Amino acid sequence: MIIAIDGPAGAGKSTVSKIVAQKLGFLYIDTGAMYRALTLKVLGEKVDIEDTVGIIEVAKSTVIDLVNNPDSSLRILLDGKDVSRDIRQPYISRFVSDIAKIKEVRKVMLGLQRVLGGQRDCVLDGRDIGTVVFPEADKKFYLDANLSERTRRRHKELQDSGQDTSLSDVELDIHNRDTIDSTRKIAPLKKAEDAVCIDTTKMTISEVVDKVLEEIKK
Ligand code: C5P
Repeated sequence: MIIAIDGPAGAGKSTVSKIVAQKLGFLYIDTGAMYRALTLKVLGEKVDIEDTVGIIEVAKSTVIDLVNNPDSSLRILLDGKDVSRDIRQPYISRFVSDIAKIKEVRKVMLGLQRVLGGQRDCVLDGRDIGTVVFPEADKKFYLDANLSERTRRRHKELQDSGQDTSLSDVELDIHNRDTIDSTRKIAPLKKAEDAVCIDTTKMTISEVVDKVLEEIKK
């Protein structure tokens, strides 16, 4: 069974997906983490962000793996090295959408995501899971929330992990990424026609999880 959970940054996708996967005993696949890992490598190798050919070369020669811990938390491996924390840094967020909009980069990731998702029952979260990666997913969700609530959540997440950023910087990052993600030519962020839309602005995490589980059981 494949559960697709899409939506903009800070809508609660990864938190909810992780818990839902754990409750169902499914694999959790954070596709955003894959784009972040590639971005970390591109920036680490000092490939210019405008150098599309160079970025594609890196994408084709990089091994990204996701390892589920027993509690459904994820370890992201980049060429065998655990980069789970490094990929959450704000400078990665700043460049990831520019890299994720490249057609050939998405092709590489799509292949990887289909292989990972084809192995067993899983919950995948991202931007194009229900529309492009697994259009035949058994259940699709589109999580959304207003910009100020999404900013507040992402800011708290960063503070909790010891990263000092201002609310206005976080808001700018989310807004910029949403714009690039939803206007790009290939696999833009959008609700799949058959997705269940949940506005999480005024909901707690457990309310969203309950709603998702209820829909899956239907
Ligand atoms: O989910 P997260 O916010 O970590 O994703 C980081 C970025 O990766 C997104 O802003 C988007 O540019 C890209 N992404 C994507 N397609 C996905 C998942 C993420 O383009 N399926």
